[in-house]
Order: sequence, then structure tokens, then C-alpha cells
Amino acid sequence: MTTAPARRPAPPFGTVPAPVMVVSEAVDGVFSTPRAVPVAPLELHPFAHVLHYGSACFEGLKAHRGVDGVVRLFRVDRHVARLRRSSALVHLPVPDAGLVEAAIHAAVAANLEVVPDPPGALYLRPLLIGTEPNIGSAASPSATALLTVLASPVGDYFADGERALRLAVETVLPRTTPQFGEAKAGANYVLALGVIRHARAAHGADQVLFAPDGLVQETGAANFLLLDEGRVVTPALDPAFLHGVTRDTVLTLARDLGDDVEEREVRVEELTDWSGEAAVSGTAAVLTGVGHLVLDGRSRRLGDGQVGAATRRLRTALLAVQRGEVGDAHGWTRPVTG
Ligand SMILES: *Cc1c(COP(=O)(O)O)cnc(C)c1O
Repeated sequence: MTTAPARRPAPPFGTVPAPVMVVSEAVDGVFSTPRAVPVAPLELHPFAHVLHYGSACFEGLKAHRGVDGVVRLFRVDRHVARLRRSSALVHLPVPDAGLVEAAIHAAVAANLEVVPDPPGALYLRPLLIGTEPNIGSAASPSATALLTVLASPVGDYFADGERALRLAVETVLPRTTPQFGEAKAGANYVLALGVIRHARAAHGADQVLFAPDGLVQETGAANFLLLDEGRVVTPALDPAFLHGVTRDTVLTLARDLGDDVEEREVRVEELTDWSGEAAVSGTAAVLTGVGHLVLDGRSRRLGDGQVGAATRRLRTALLAVQRGEVGDAHGWTRPVTG
């Protein structure tokens, strides 16, 4: 008699690099042809612009192994467009969409063997940094840049998968400044860190829902949605917060399923009265239920405190497209071959 091998727990999200990365250098705005190279420390001059003045932006997207064994990138065009938008906002040279897309494809193709089976995926992390070695250039953009596409096999982002999150609502401090909300810029995440660490320590929160001036925006790294049977409510797009690809995908799938989708202003008072579910969306978070909201220091349970039925339904619809279990009606996936 044989016993099934014990399932090893997946390592924490983002801690395992895939063996190959793709690099391209920009000089005077012209990027070199992307090259696949073994993952290794970058050679960076200590005077590099990014180290002193924060010229950095990134992306996060996934390639999924389908039920047919084919590996497919999900909405790569949208992620490339957003990287280009972020590059412009941090005054780095903007790479051509075709070049970034080719670099991402190359990173998947070179790491096909380590793409996990569902629920895992290959997480892709394009990164663009200013490399000009000049510490006197605080008031000018970096003349040179490095684009890398890193890859990492991942399991679930939240260590305990299906548990609903506890979000602390921050009604005063913003996550970042309004002019950088739309950028996936590295500096945004350290700006938010003080509020997040405080919420963890004071309220046992998993994340913070930022609602400066009482206007709901998003969490530290995911968008926010209110859900109910046949209904989804989420803040309308605004330059002050990140335009999530998962947000757009979930809203599209909800409309396809006949739900009412409201993209509009959401005020914190509405959270107090909301009798339905809440969830956060993001490439890493997928669609994760919210079980508790901490408002004015008081914890409020949503529903039974677990992941709700409306959240599960949309999450299942999203995963089905990503894994090729259903037709790709919107042309969101791109197969990658070796
Ligand atoms: C990446 C990110 C999201 C989610 O965007 P997706 O495109 O859905 O992955 C939302 N908010 C912030 C601040 C993010 O960094």
C-alpha cells in the first residue's frame, strides 16, 4: 500500500525567483533588445538615480497553466499599458509596448518548466529603474534605465488562502499623493507602510482601506468592491488610485453575468450601513473576501465574517477564464510556447 505524498506548503508569495530573468537597457530613450539571462544580482552603480531619488516603477501579472496544459498570460496588454503610464509618471524613458510584451513573453517562455499547476501561477514582475550614476541629478530624470522582467512561481498570496480579511479603514491619511495614485511606483508602498503597520499592531488588520476625507479609494495593494446578490459597487476610477486590471476584469465578468455594476463615489458612511459583502481585487489577491472592517477603532463584521457567495461566484468566474476552463470571450489570454 502506498500513501499519498504530503502536500508541501507553498513558500510565501514572491520569495522564490524563477531561474531566468529578461533584461533590456535604455540609453537616450532607446531600449536594447531584451535578453534572457540567469537570475543574478544586478550590477548597479551606487550613484544610480533610483537608489537616491526613487525613479522606479513595476508591474505584476500572471501566467496560468490551463486545464489543457497550455500556459497563458492574462491581460498582458493592459499591464504593459500601465507600465508605460507609470514610467511616464516617474519620468523614466517609456519603453515601446511591443518591446515590453516581448520581454514578458520571453520571461515566461524561459521559465515554462516552473509554471505551477493551479491554484499556483507564474507571477511576472516587470521592473523599470533609473540607472544614471549621478547623485547631483535630484531635479532631473535619469538619462539611462534598466528594464527587467522577473518571474516567480507562486501559490496563494494570503498564506491561509480562503480566510476573509480584516481591513482597517483609514479616513484621514492618503495612501500616496494624488498625482502618483495611478502609478505602480515603488515609493508609494513605503509611503503607505506606516499606516499599515499601525493598523496591524493596533487592530490586528490584514490591510488598510484608504478613504482620505471619507472617500473610499483602495487598499495598500488591491482595489475594493462591495458585493451583494446581483450587484457590485466600487469607487469610480480616479487618478488618485490604481486602476486595477483585476478590478476591470471582475466588473466585466459581473456585467456578463447580468449583475448591476455601479462605479461611483463610495463614502465611508456607506460601509457602516452596507449589509452585503466586500472584497479586494488584484493580480496577487485575485478576489479575496473581507470579513471585518475596523471603523473608528470599532470592528464590524460583514455577513457571517467569511468569504461570501457573491465573492465566490465572481472569483470562480475569474479563475475559470484564467485557467482556460471556459472560452475567452474577451480575448484576455495569450498562449506562451517554449
Ligand atoms: C497592483 C495594485 C492593484 C491591483 O492591480 P491589478 O492590476 O488588479 O493587479 C491595486 N492597487 C494597488 C495599489 C496596486 O499596487
